[in-house]
Amino acid sequence: MPIVYPHRRFGLPVIFRIDRALFVWYMFGIVLRYLFVDMNSYFATVEQQAQPTLRGRPVGVAPMMTDSTCCIAASYEAKSFGVTTGTGVREARRLCPGIAIVEARPQLYVEYHHRIIEAVESCLHVDCVSSIDEMYGRLMGVERTPERTAAMAFAVKAAIRRIGEALRCSIGIASNAWLAKVASDMVKPDGMTMLLPEQLPEALYRLKLTDLPGIASRMNKRLAARGIQHVHQLCAASEAELSAAWGSKVLGAIWHQQLRGIDLPYRPTKRGTVGHSHVLPPELRNERDAYRVAMRMLHKAAHRMRRLGYHASRLTARVSFLGGGRWKQYAALPQTRDTLTMAATLDTLWRHKPVRPPLKVSVELSELTADRCATLPLHPAQARHEALGDTMDRINERFGRDAIYSAAMLGAAHTAPTRISFTQIPTEDEF
Ligand SMILES: [Mg+2]
Repeated sequence: MPIVYPHRRFGLPVIFRIDRALFVWYMFGIVLRYLFVDMNSYFATVEQQAQPTLRGRPVGVAPMMTDSTCCIAASYEAKSFGVTTGTGVREARRLCPGIAIVEARPQLYVEYHHRIIEAVESCLHVDCVSSIDEMYGRLMGVERTPERTAAMAFAVKAAIRRIGEALRCSIGIASNAWLAKVASDMVKPDGMTMLLPEQLPEALYRLKLTDLPGIASRMNKRLAARGIQHVHQLCAASEAELSAAWGSKVLGAIWHQQLRGIDLPYRPTKRGTVGHSHVLPPELRNERDAYRVAMRMLHKAAHRMRRLGYHASRLTARVSFLGGGRWKQYAALPQTRDTLTMAATLDTLWRHKPVRPPLKVSVELSELTADRCATLPLHPAQARHEALGDTMDRINERFGRDAIYSAAMLGAAHTAPTRISFTQIPTEDEF
């Protein structure tokens, strides 16, 4: 709606017609830069969507159908009985006698995950998918006004609702991605929260320190030891105090700035790790098969990392031994997405492993850098290896996983089933 501002200047009547959104943008400055989408009770609402009889009922999602396991998700109806992620199934049944416990279906959650990304993408470009139920996009130009951003948030909600009426999300809008995530957590379910700069930091005061992403119980204790027990104390702390609490000047500066709404440069290592682990079945608890399974884990992790758009700078291998004891070794990688480079590094690490009957094997790629921030391969051989990796991925995506694989994992190609977690999203062909 255009607003008419009659204005007299130099004795002449002048009429400015200013679009309200542009006017607000001008008044507030460019303040709202990120829109963060967090799906509410994700696994549980997907189940309610897929099984209409579960809608409106307390639902707990468990990794398997046994009372000794715990809920990995609970619907809002179940949450009102005190059932949350991590509540034991037996305990959940006690708290909420009518609860429907359903077995998790990772493949279904990943399918919906991709459809949700598409729905959000139809309204706003998704710059970062931070977990299976969270993503955010950067707002551009006039989208950054509160009015336009709110309209976009409702469009995102409507697009998600079109996938399935049971699906709900909470949206947070703020001047940096971290605050937008904090905002998305403030009203649940189906919330929409905007943190305007003039509301900061007071708007954060009602939160607990552990509500802030990046402060878990250990950090909470460290802050308490320094007299910081509430968010208002955290906001009042100087950069030096925060650096001392975090034991890092960089982290101190990041916290000091992100609390004030400053848009920090993109942090490419935001995603922690991509990895796989596998408990060996009895017939594979020997040196040769453990090595093959480790190579298989590495291929899977490397493939997933490429799909997510990252390069890795560190490889960690871990083995737990039958009868107790563990081995762990890591090595730096030359910022790479090439499986062969990683396989050679794993091979070198493996030579240092004590020879004992293995029980569990894990491989992890970390210190991840987003592709767009990574240095391009300098050596032609490295570029060729990367191209080979891409080709292998394409073949496997087209003809099924393990249509082509490295000789090192011969015999181990079909071990290690796909599991799901919030931060590791299996690609569709991993099922
Ligand atoms: Mg969520």
